[in-house]
Amino acid sequence: MGDDPHPAPPPKLRATGLTRGFGRGRKQLHALGPVDLDIAPGEFTCIVGPSGCGKSTLLRIAAGLLRPSAGRLEIRTDSPRPAAMIFQDYGIYDWKTVLANVRFGLDIQRVPRKEADAKAYDWLGRMGLADFAGAYPAALSGGMRQRVAIARALAVEPEILLMDEPFAALDAQLRTIMQDELLELTQATSTTTLFITHSLEEALVLGDRVLVMSARPGRIIAERRPPFGRPRTGDIRDAPEFTALKGELWELL
Ligand code: ADP
Ligand code: MG
Repeated sequence: MGDDPHPAPPPKLRATGLTRGFGRGRKQLHALGPVDLDIAPGEFTCIVGPSGCGKSTLLRIAAGLLRPSAGRLEIRTDSPRPAAMIFQDYGIYDWKTVLANVRFGLDIQRVPRKEADAKAYDWLGRMGLADFAGAYPAALSGGMRQRVAIARALAVEPEILLMDEPFAALDAQLRTIMQDELLELTQATSTTTLFITHSLEEALVLGDRVLVMSARPGRIIAERRPPFGRPRTGDIRDAPEFTALKGELWELL
C-alpha cells in the first residue's frame, strides 16, 4: 500500500467482460468472450488463435466498427493521433491511385499537401511500391495491395495500431521483412499495437505479450511474455527459448 513511486501508466486499451454474439434466439452464435484485457501504452500485444475463434470480432469492436453484446471497451487517447486499422481484406479504395490511398489518412488529418506527398512517397518506398504511386489498386497483386494498406495505416503515425492478419497474403520472404520493419517502427515510435494472427510463430516474433484464444467459447486461455528483450528482430526465431515456447503454446491450439 502507500504511494507507489513508479505507478503503472493507465492502459491505452481496456476490455471488460467483452462479449459478442451474432443472430437471435436459439440460433444465436456466441462469437467472443467474455474477454478482459488491458494493453499498456507502447505495448505490442499479439492475439493468436484458430480460425473462427473471434479474433476479428474483437478487433472490429476495438476499432469501433462493431458493438459488443455485453461488456465495455475503452480506449484512452491523449493526443489527436488517430487509431489506425489494417484489415484482412485490406479495405483500400479501388478508385484512388496508390499514392492517394496512402495519403488518405494524412488528408483527413489536414497534413499540408507537400508534406503528405513526401510522407506517402517515403512509405511507398519502404514498402517497395515506389514505382506504383500512380497505379490503381486493380493493377496490383494481393500482396502489393496489402502493402498499400499497411503504408496507409503507418503513414498517419497512429497512437494505436490495430492489425488483423496484415501479412497473411505476403510470401514468406516479404513477411519476414515486414515483421522486422513493423517491430522497428513500433519500437521507435512506442506505438501501442494489437496484432492478430493465426500464426503462432509470428505472434512470438512480434509480441511483448502473446494471448492465445480458444475456438470455444472465444476466450483468452493463455498469456505469455516471450523472454526476448528489445530492441528485437526476427532473429530470435533461432533461439532455443523460442522453439520451447512455441512447442508449449502449440499444445494449446
Ligand atoms: P476469426 O477472426 O478468429 O477467424 P471471427 O471473429 O471472424 O473469427 O468470427 C468468430 C465467429 O463469429 C465465427 O464463428 C464467425 O462465423 C462468426 N461471425 C463473425 N462475424 C459474423 C457476422 N457478421 N455475422 C454472423 N456471424 C459472424
Ligand atoms: Mg479473422
